[in-house]
Amino acid sequence: MTDRRAHEGDTAAWLAGFVRDIPDFPQPGVAFKDITPLLRDPEAFGAAVDALAAPFQNRGVELVAGIEARGLMLAAPVAHVLGAGFVPMRKIGKLPHTTRSQAYALEYGTDHIEVHEDAIAPGQRVLVVDDVIATGGTAAAAAELVEGLGGELVSLVFLVKLAFLGGVERLGGRPHVSVITYGPGDGG
Ligand code: AMP
Repeated sequence: MTDRRAHEGDTAAWLAGFVRDIPDFPQPGVAFKDITPLLRDPEAFGAAVDALAAPFQNRGVELVAGIEARGLMLAAPVAHVLGAGFVPMRKIGKLPHTTRSQAYALEYGTDHIEVHEDAIAPGQRVLVVDDVIATGGTAAAAAELVEGLGGELVSLVFLVKLAFLGGVERLGGRPHVSVITYGPGDGG
């Protein structure tokens, strides 16, 4: 059992203690931010979900979209906390109904995420959740899917921002919030 008092002062720093660096995963040169120690700790998991949701209480969020894979794990409880519905954004070929797809650039090549075409109705207020923003391509693609279906993007929110990779530049001025920031950045 974790001591709740341990994070009364600085929740972000306390949560960062549950994120472990895995060097050279999934490929050489990448320091992977492994959030599984955070997910398996009831107190830290709850505090992370609350921290992700807190800025969006009373903001009229109707849907929370999570990005596969770890974004799904965080977005579903955030949706519950906000009293919103949940929308999965998945890798290509995983969703069973008619989908809308968005390509985004990787370091080498491209990838796609998809959402069900009827998952977001025009005008619905949508919050996008992911575990990590690195170069920002995934998050930008998610935002484009929301906007392409006519949704109103309330914000994007990340548990971890790798500020030194400059991912928020890819968001084109869209609102965004991060709980934990690594490296130089705006802290938000
Ligand atoms: P990007 O499109 O470069 O911002 O990458 C963000 C997506 O890739 C997120 O869905 C993350 O889950 C994953 N990701 C990228 N870099 C890392 C990393 N260093 N540690 C953990 N996940 C990462």
